[in-house]
Amino acid sequence: MLKGLQSTTTLHNGVKMPLVGLGVFKVQDGEEVVNSVKSALETGYRSIDTAAVYGNEEGVGKAIAESNVAREELFITTKVWNADHGYEETLAAFDVSLRKLGLDYLDLYLIHWPLPSQGKYIETWKALEELYKNGRVRAIGVSNFKIHHLEDIIANCEIKPMVNQVEYHPRFNQRELHAFCQKHAIQLEAWSPLMQGGLFEEPVIVEIAQKYNKSAAQVIIRWDIQTGVVTIPKSAKPHRIAENADVFDFELSQEDMDKINSLNTDQRMFADPDDFNRV
Ligand code: NAD
Repeated sequence: MLKGLQSTTTLHNGVKMPLVGLGVFKVQDGEEVVNSVKSALETGYRSIDTAAVYGNEEGVGKAIAESNVAREELFITTKVWNADHGYEETLAAFDVSLRKLGLDYLDLYLIHWPLPSQGKYIETWKALEELYKNGRVRAIGVSNFKIHHLEDIIANCEIKPMVNQVEYHPRFNQRELHAFCQKHAIQLEAWSPLMQGGLFEEPVIVEIAQKYNKSAAQVIIRWDIQTGVVTIPKSAKPHRIAENADVFDFELSQEDMDKINSLNTDQRMFADPDDFNRV
């Protein structure tokens, strides 16, 4: 197992979550996702991030079943899709995801988007609370929630989200949201941490990568960890899956962290959650 890959953060309910996981967005169900997840598990990854809408939960489940990693070592995340917002709908969607994954409990279940057009994320959250109280999932959280959505949940629900998974990379470092989450002990998790490859030629990143004899991807993933954010870079290539996790043998200096922080432009690559209503 790669050094450091077992490093975790402790969520506000005491559950430990790996700092680095594998994202499988746009990894095809069947052979591609099975091989990616197997390769990650062999490298020492224990955290896999999928979603109902990715259409590859069955392949993720197959890879888990065929691996010899003990279930209690794994940290499996999936997400309730926008079409399933609502209390009963979410409970039913959870059962479908769990069956596809071939698991009898989940580690983290997230509301994928707040979906303002439907106004049902509070109801949806209450279903997640129910699943948590019944021991069917070890932690519950949200994705793409802005401060006002989180405030709404905190004011109207019993359990505070343990995780908020959002777009996060050096061009969009979510300073205010990050500070809010830290204040409320909500763990921030980065999606598209590598900006889907868009930062590999960035001169500041390239220069820092050369200095540490690391790749641009490794510098960005290391920056995530040092900013206190859980990260789930995606790759379907075994050598890149291994490369992305080989980030525990160096530390970026404060000066280099500051240089990377200065790349922030507050610009999203993807939709603003207040405007995203696709079902
Ligand atoms: P990413 O930023 O992780 O970039 C992935 C791409 O970067 C790969 O397709 C590959 O082309 C390239 N890459 C990866 N490692 C590399 C390396 N070492 N060297 C060179 N190129 C490399 O993009 P992503 O897949 O959008 O995000 C990661 C994960 O976040 C997803 O797989 C998914 O699990 C999650 N996600 C969640 C949401 C959400 O709404 N919650 C949205 C998008 C992504």
